[in-house]
Amino acid sequence: MFSLDREFVFDAEMVKEISERLILHWNYRGYSALPEELCICGNHVCELYLKYNNITELPNWIENMTNLTNIYLQANYLTELPEAIQFLTSLTTLDVSHNHLVKIPSSIGKLVKLKTLVLTHNQLACLPSSLGCLPCLVSLLLSSNKLADLPESLHLCQNLEEIQLDFNQFTSLPNFLTRLSRLKRLSVCSNQLTHLPHLPFACIERFHCDNNPCISYLPYPLACQMNQPPTRPLATRNVLHISTLFGCFDPSKRKEATVLVQDAPPAALCFLPDIDLICINAPPSLLELTLRSISSRIFSEPLNISFDRKQNLHRFESSYHHSYDRRIGEFCLPSTLIQLLRDGPVAICLGCQTFIFRGPAYPVFLSKIIVRHERAGHDLMPVVCSLLFCSASCFRTTSAAGAMAGLESPLDWECITRRTTSTN
Ligand SMILES: [Zn+2]
Repeated sequence: MFSLDREFVFDAEMVKEISERLILHWNYRGYSALPEELCICGNHVCELYLKYNNITELPNWIENMTNLTNIYLQANYLTELPEAIQFLTSLTTLDVSHNHLVKIPSSIGKLVKLKTLVLTHNQLACLPSSLGCLPCLVSLLLSSNKLADLPESLHLCQNLEEIQLDFNQFTSLPNFLTRLSRLKRLSVCSNQLTHLPHLPFACIERFHCDNNPCISYLPYPLACQMNQPPTRPLATRNVLHISTLFGCFDPSKRKEATVLVQDAPPAALCFLPDIDLICINAPPSLLELTLRSISSRIFSEPLNISFDRKQNLHRFESSYHHSYDRRIGEFCLPSTLIQLLRDGPVAICLGCQTFIFRGPAYPVFLSKIIVRHERAGHDLMPVVCSLLFCSASCFRTTSAAGAMAGLESPLDWECITRRTTSTN
């Protein structure tokens, strides 16, 4: 038990208020520090509202408040959180938004009951990997910071349903986000994304990525998710409420393409930076072949991807998203291979269903143009979709077998058009 190290004069009225309540509403009180009466007689308090005060630091004696479940410190002047926060093991909600935090202590990983962590509007450039030790975490709100990456360990937080990353510095999204099996809402507006994930999300319902001007095409799996028929008619009309991509596809931001583009305007796309090399003649590296081979053993049964998206893509999602990380753990492999496998595949070949980790991959861009209304105006925008294959020969085999026929149907693109415009 931490105690005050000096003589302390009680404010009798405050002591009375504290001892009579489980919830303390102390917003807008002008406090520059936590009242020390809490240290003496506040152990029973469950919820602490301290929004819009002038608090610059949390005292170490906060560790005494082991019954705290919710603490709201929005709009104060905190620059860091004390290590002692680890002792608040009942905490389910921690809101320290609109402060000046530059770092989060790794001891936050001890808060094993934490469900909601609100860190928006701070100065955070990185996060501790111990966030992956929060098994109950449901909402992780990180907008308006300086983040360009997330700790890989977050893939362990399989209860995550909501992640907000707006107004940060992301240029790409980590692969593991597509493997979070309960992730329903993901928002990554106003970043510097150059591309979107090439694997479908598990069960995403809302995906917002407005104002990423460098995004120049939609990955086909994501386009399929936009186009899936509603499964829950009483909920939102769209399974995936994707933003209208307002502020994306800025022609002036497009980079020179260095890829083989099938049937698409050349030199109009910036391509996936996380795949090493896109070249029709380059064989995969030994490492890549090993990763592909192991992952095909892990998923010995077919994942059943098909261009008949209405059913088969959905089957693919269930099988892949729910068991990828677990199945890797079941194999006895060198730790370096385990790590690469845990980073996960970047894409899956839409022909033979081989996982693609670092490439090479063979991209096909479809120039079937999706005409789409911007939310704020009436501009007509061309949107290109990208498909990835493990090799040029796999693409040729697939398309020769007629499996690409469904892609060419104008109806597909019209559906996507309707879906995006209907979210206005
Ligand atoms: Zn293939």
